[in-house]
Amino acid sequence: MDDLEGDFLLEVNKYKRLFHITNKFHSSLDVDILIGELFITLQEVYPDFSYYLLLSQDTHSHSDLPIIDLEYDGENIAAINAYVLGIVQFEYSIVDKHVILYAPLKGRQGIYGVLQVIAPNTAEFPDMEVEFITLLAGSAGSALENAQLYQQSRRAIADLELINETSHRLNSNLRLAETMTFMSEQIISSFEAEEVGFFLFSQDQETIKVLPGSTTYFFTKQARIYIDYIKEKIQKGNEPLFIGDITLPSFKNIKSFHSIIAIPMIQSENLKGFSIIMHQTPYFFSFETFKLLQSLLHHSSLALTNSMLREELEKLVITDHLTKLHSRKFLDEKIQNSMKKDEEGTFILIDIDNFKEINDTYGHQIGDELLIQVANLIKGNIRGNDVGARWGGEELAIYLPLVPLDVGTTIAERLVEKVSASSTPHITVSCGVSYWNKESLDSYKYLFKRADEALYLAKGTGKNKVVTQEDNIKVS
Ligand code: GH3
Ligand code: MG
Ligand code: MG
Repeated sequence: MDDLEGDFLLEVNKYKRLFHITNKFHSSLDVDILIGELFITLQEVYPDFSYYLLLSQDTHSHSDLPIIDLEYDGENIAAINAYVLGIVQFEYSIVDKHVILYAPLKGRQGIYGVLQVIAPNTAEFPDMEVEFITLLAGSAGSALENAQLYQQSRRAIADLELINETSHRLNSNLRLAETMTFMSEQIISSFEAEEVGFFLFSQDQETIKVLPGSTTYFFTKQARIYIDYIKEKIQKGNEPLFIGDITLPSFKNIKSFHSIIAIPMIQSENLKGFSIIMHQTPYFFSFETFKLLQSLLHHSSLALTNSMLREELEKLVITDHLTKLHSRKFLDEKIQNSMKKDEEGTFILIDIDNFKEINDTYGHQIGDELLIQVANLIKGNIRGNDVGARWGGEELAIYLPLVPLDVGTTIAERLVEKVSASSTPHITVSCGVSYWNKESLDSYKYLFKRADEALYLAKGTGKNKVVTQEDNIKVS
C-alpha cells in the first residue's frame, strides 16, 4: 500500500466517523450528551489538538466539559466573527507556532456557538481538516438547534397544560377561598415563588383587601411596605410589573424581597385588584415566568370575579341559590328578632362530616347534590316558623324559636339519623346545639359560640352525632 492510498483510507475513515457521529447527534435531544459526543469525536480524530466550545450563555447547563461563555467584549474578534458571520475564521500565532480555527455551530435558524480548535506546531491548517471540522461543527449546530427547539416546545406544552388545568379547575364552581388557595398552590409550585398574594380594591379604590389563598406573609404588618408600593405603581400605570432587584426600606433582620412580579386584575376595563409573587433572591424570576403568570391570571380572572360576585350576592339575598334554604343574613335577623321578643329558642349548627374527602372522591357536583339532599331533609324536619339556613359553605343551621333544648336536641338527632340512613352516596353530619332563654343574660354571639363549641366536640369525638352545650360543659 503506498502513501497516497493510505491517506485516502484515513480520509474515508474520518468521513465514516462523521456520518456516524451525525447520526448519533440527531438521535439525542440532550444538549450535554451532544456536546460530549462532539468532544469524543474530536479527540479520536485529532488527538494532538485542543478544543473549546464557545456557547452563548443560555444554551448549556453546567457540565465539566471545556465550554466557555461566548462574550461580546471585543477580546476575541475571530470567535465573534465566526459567530456573527457564520464563516470559519483563523488566528495565527507565530510566537506560539500554532493556528486556531473557529468554526460556527450553524443550524437552519441560527448560530448556536463556535468551536475553537487549536493546532500546535503548524503554520497552516490543511484544507482537508478545515472542511472536516466545518462539517462536524455544522452537524453539531443543527443537532443543537433540534435539541433546543425540542426543549422549547416541551416548555410551551407544559405552560399550556398549566393554564389549561388551572382554568379548568377554576371554572368548576369552587368557593372563592378554595379557588384562591388552588391558584396559590399552582403558582408556588410552578414558579417557585416564596410568597403569593391576591388583592382586591374597595369600591373607591382607596383601600385593599388581602384575599384568602394569599400566603400568610401578606397578612402581616411587614408586607404592607410591598403591598403599598405595588398598589401605587399599579394604580398609576395599570400595567404588569417585572422587578428584578428592588430594595425597599425595611427593618433589620426582617426578610426582604428583591424579585417581584405584579399583575393587575382588570375586569371590563376596570382595575379590580392585583396579584403579587415575590422572592428574596434578586433576578429570581425569568421573563418567561412573567409572561406565563400574566396569561395564567388572564385566563383565570373571569372565574375569580365570578366567584367573588357570587359570594357578594349570597350575602345580599335571603335564599341560598344552591340549597334553597334561607341565607345567613336572613337567619341572623330572625334570631336577633326572636331573642328580643320570644321566651326561648334553640340553635343547631350542622356540618357535613369529611366533606372534603367526599368532594375529592366524587367531585364537587356530587358534593353540591349532597348538600341539597341534607337541605331537603332539614326542610322536611322543621315547621313553618323555624328557620333552616345555609350558614356558609357546607355548614347549615336551624333556628327553632320558642323550642326548649331537649326538643331541639331530638330534632337534631333525628336529622343525624336520617342523613346517615338516606344519603347517596352515603354521608353523615354532626350537630352542635345551643339554647337561650329570657332568664339568662345572653347574646346572639354567645349562642352561636356555644353551638360551634358543641359541634367541635362532636367532630372530635367520632362525628355522626349530636352534642349540646350542656354535654360540652360536662366534658370541660
Ligand atoms: P369535618 O368532618 O371535620 O367537617 O371534615 P370536612 O372535610 O368536612 O372539613 P371542613 O368542614 O373543614 O371542610 C369543608 C369542605 O367542604 C371544604 C369544601 O371542599 C367543602 N365545601 C364547602 N362548601 C361547599 C359547597 O358549596 N359545595 C361543595 N361541593 N363543597 C363545599
Ligand atoms: Mg366545615
Ligand atoms: Mg365538614
